[in-house]
Parts: sequence; C-alpha cells; structure tokens
Amino acid sequence: MKSAIEVLDAFENIRRAQRAGIYAPHKPLLILLALSRVQRGEQRLVSFAAVDQQLKQLLAEFGPSSAAKSRHYPFWHLATDGRGALWELTGPREFLKRAAGHTPGLTELRKHEVKGGFPLDVDEALRHQPGLLQAVASRLLDAYFPSTLHADIVASLGLDLDGPGEVREARLLAGIDTSTSRRRRDPGFRERVLRAYEYRCCVCGFDLRIGLTPAGLEAAHIQWHHVGGPDIEPNGLSLCALHHKLFDLGAFTVEPSEHRLVFSQLAISGSRGMGGELQFHGRTILPPQHPDLLPAPEFLAWNVTNVFKKPARRPSALTALAAR
Ligand SMILES: [Zn+2]
Repeated sequence: MKSAIEVLDAFENIRRAQRAGIYAPHKPLLILLALSRVQRGEQRLVSFAAVDQQLKQLLAEFGPSSAAKSRHYPFWHLATDGRGALWELTGPREFLKRAAGHTPGLTELRKHEVKGGFPLDVDEALRHQPGLLQAVASRLLDAYFPSTLHADIVASLGLDLDGPGEVREARLLAGIDTSTSRRRRDPGFRERVLRAYEYRCCVCGFDLRIGLTPAGLEAAHIQWHHVGGPDIEPNGLSLCALHHKLFDLGAFTVEPSEHRLVFSQLAISGSRGMGGELQFHGRTILPPQHPDLLPAPEFLAWNVTNVFKKPARRPSALTALAAR
C-alpha cells in the first residue's frame, strides 16, 4: 500500500502536466468520479460502459462546449500518466497493446468491455488511510475548478468531503508545504474589481449592502485564476453571487467589441419577460468607472474557448470571434 504522501504526490503530478492557460476538466472529473465510487465501497475496476453516461453528464455540465464528446480520452490515457501509477486498464490484451496515442472510440471501449480504476496500491491507500480520499478530491477541485462550482460538482458525484484532517496534518509534519505549488491570490483583487464597477453586479445592477459592506457581490476572474488568469481589473467582473455562478458555468459571456452579454443557446429560461434571466442577453454590461478597467479581449477569448457553452444566442459578435 502506498503512503498518503506518495498518493498525494502522484495526483499532484497530473496537475503539473497541465499547460498554463489550457483548461481540460476531463481527467479531474474522471478521477473525482472514481473517488466517489471508492468512497461508496464499490469495486476497484469499472467498465467504461458503466460510467459513460455519468461522465457525459458531468462534462456537459462542468466542461466547456463539446467536452462530452471526448469523455473517453482520460479513461484510456490516464493509464499512461506517471507510467500507470494512477490508473489501470483491463480488457483484451491485443486491444490494450495499441499505441498510447491511438485513442479508441467510444463504441470500441464499450464493445471490448474495457475496465479501468486505480491500481491496487493506490486503491487500498484511498480506502484505508483516513482523510486521504478527501484530501485528493479537495486538491483536485482547488486545482481545476472555480470555488463557485465545488459544491455542485461534489453533490453531482455524491462525494462526502467532510472527512478527518489527518492527511493535511501528516503533510505539515513531513514539512511539505502544499501552498507553494499554487499561485497566490492577490487579496486586493476583489476590492479593486468591485470598486471599478462601483459595487454593483455589472449584469443586473444588484448592489445590496449590509450596513456599509457589500453583500452577495463577488469579483469573478474572466480567465480562471488557477489556469493562469491574472488578478487585474481587465480580467475581472463584478458580479452578484448568482451571475458569478452562471458565468463560471458558461451560461453567458461578454463579447469583446461592445461588451454585450451573450447567453448560450443551452441556457433556457421559462420566463422571457422582464423577470427572466434572458432579459440580459444582448445588453451591454454596466461599465466600469474608466475604460482602462474594461474586460480585455484576450481574457474574454479564453472564456469563450474554455468556459462558455457554445453555441451563442443571436445576435452576437461571438461567431466572428470563434471563426478567427
Ligand atoms: Zn447579477
């Protein structure tokens, strides 16, 4: 059985392989799904067919457009990460011997009844070391997803993260600082972004205060912080808690020329009148105090590519952006 530190480090190496600015939630979502199975005491290996629908749904909800089409990639490729330290595949020997770069199709994986799961030493450590599974899951969530989405992802998977904290303590005792590998957040970012937009949601104008303190108002990163988005005003939007969440789910984005709000065709709302969410589609954002503080095109382009759920509702300038 591997030690807690060894298991944590093996998962950490996946994160390091992620290229700056490139966001792909496939691997972390598959691993989180596999962790939830371990937590429920299910068998170590599972056939691709058995998890296919759940993976599809997770990627459709928490991934960028068309992510669900490549949902089988990590099931196959995770086995070659760290020379098989984290994922094991079983199936017909000839089929498994094909070149690593040659990804089989969805139907092939189902037809050959390929099974995957954590290797035995990792699986045992996750099942028997208190708090380890929760620590791995928490770190994956922190590394790949904005905090607005953590609770929803955990709920979709049925994961229970309120475990004991022995592992974190073990790391501290071992002198391993977990914070150095992460980029520090600038504590002034929220205040500067909120001030730029005069303490209101730039979508709906929400500006409630409790006493003197703005309530339910957040500074959203347009390019997510954990994938290299800087803590500067042109990468920020002042949003109410609801619009922050919808923005991080890709329900809407902002087009770069006139800063109009563009909603996804996948965002459906029953009420189309003044009270409905889609009333904001096509409107310009409530502008910041100074044009220098406006969202910058490069961050908006990142958001369209990596978060926004295409296709966009019309009319919009997004088609021109996507065609570039
Ligand atoms: Zn709002």
